Amino acid sequence: MTQTRAKGPVPFFLDDVVVLRKQHPCGGDTWRVVRLGADIGLRCGTCGRRVLVARRDLEKDMKRFAERGPLAPAD
Ligand SMILES: [Zn+2]
Repeated sequence: MTQTRAKGPVPFFLDDVVVLRKQHPCGGDTWRVVRLGADIGLRCGTCGRRVLVARRDLEKDMKRFAERGPLAPAD
């Protein structure tokens, strides 16, 4: 993977866990990627609720990866 943390599309993979700037009302801030597409499905790591977020909104709100899924290429 030549693309590191440059600007541009963030390569999300299933089962990645991301930390967002905004906390969920339940207090959680980690989310697992459960669906990929134009919208990205996330499951709250704390309460288990699922949401759909537009990819660009997710890229904007994302702070970092907490964990990479098994499908993500190693750095
Ligand atoms: Zn939650």
